[in-house]
Amino acid sequence: MVRRQVCVEDEMVEDTMENTEEILKKKPKQDWTLTDLPGVGALTAEKLSLAGYDTFMSIAVTSPGEIVELTGLTEANARKIIQFARSALDMGFENAEDILAKRQLVEKISTGSKAFDDLMGGGIETGAITEIFSEFGGGKTQMAHILSIMVQKIKEEKEPYVVFIDTENTFRPERIVQLAKGAGLDPNYALKHIKVARAYNSDHQMLLAEKVEELIKKQNLNVKLVVVDSLTAHFRAEFIGRGTLAERQQKLNKHMHLLLKLADTYNLSVYVTNQVMAKPDQFFGDPTAAIGGHIVAHASTFRIYLRKGKKGSRVAKLIDSPNLAEGECSFYVTEEGLKDI
Ligand code: ADP
Ligand code: MG
Repeated sequence: MVRRQVCVEDEMVEDTMENTEEILKKKPKQDWTLTDLPGVGALTAEKLSLAGYDTFMSIAVTSPGEIVELTGLTEANARKIIQFARSALDMGFENAEDILAKRQLVEKISTGSKAFDDLMGGGIETGAITEIFSEFGGGKTQMAHILSIMVQKIKEEKEPYVVFIDTENTFRPERIVQLAKGAGLDPNYALKHIKVARAYNSDHQMLLAEKVEELIKKQNLNVKLVVVDSLTAHFRAEFIGRGTLAERQQKLNKHMHLLLKLADTYNLSVYVTNQVMAKPDQFFGDPTAAIGGHIVAHASTFRIYLRKGKKGSRVAKLIDSPNLAEGECSFYVTEEGLKDI
């Protein structure tokens, strides 16, 4: 019975493709539902929703195999649906003028180091994902704490909040207290404005990222910074061996797109940390050999490689940026925060 119904929906995909385009043109984007996709009826939509695929974006970034498995649609039709969701999402161009106006809303979180801020064009941007990668002990978690303080110095009508997703149990409130004092903030105020959640595995981590929207919408918090420290550690630990690589990348892709959507929709800054591959002989001198490969690299707006420099300093190298020159700078991590050399 179920099978027949699925087949009927399958055949409908071709017929409804053009109709769907017409319908979507008339509907505001926020009202699009899965049943607006060609050949997706209530039954298929429900199966997808139950598995967490409830928006065009989530369909656009998934794989045909996943849809086939969940719904019983043929692979060809699963592909069409994905293709459709993708093209629907970038239907309609924005004027460059509008984009410039949107760019003017971008805020910059100072790092506390003038050299580092200059490298980043003024600081860590809102509306973007900034990825920092280094070897163990490079200073990624320190930077996460520092940004959690510095973002609170942004003057806005509504007090800025931080969501800190901690996957390695390395968030330290004591460090926040130290840094708050260093930045001239009341430590209790600073602690109150950081919402910390420990993520126990990759699914939990993804779920926590999804919850950020609730904090913004239901609790009406002005979340300005979302930290995911570490972005890749759970994924790396859970998906071992070549056979699982595709699945890992698919999940990471979904996670990154959700983060990007948060950054874009709420003009907040996403800061994620990543490790370089543990094969220093093979990858020596190649700072781009971070975990997560192209998926993480492409979704990140800014990528910074952090390494230890002379006399305990740190060197940050900007690898990828849409509008800034590549370059390097050095600074110290001190008890009070970053210090220029
Ligand atoms: P990662 O997250 O990249 O593995 P961390 O951010 O945990 O690395 O960096 C650890 C380093 O940060 C330590 O080795 C130390 O040099 C520096 N550090 C940690 N705490 C402090 C502090 N209170 N003051 C100054 N530097 C610190
Ligand atoms: Mg760390």
